[in-house]
Amino acid sequence: MDPDLMALLVCPACRGPVQEQDSVIVCQSCGKQYPVREGIPVMLVEEAS
Ligand SMILES: [Zn+2]
Repeated sequence: MDPDLMALLVCPACRGPVQEQDSVIVCQSCGKQYPVREGIPVMLVEEAS
């Protein structure tokens, strides 16, 4: 994923930093996982697992 895009992403639940891990985005603060669909991270609390 584009590093510039990653730098802009924050967890919508806690505003914590996130990191790409395999095919999901993982919040480093609260541990929520957000799916990536067709290369686009879905940063929605409702979609988190
Ligand atoms: Zn979080």
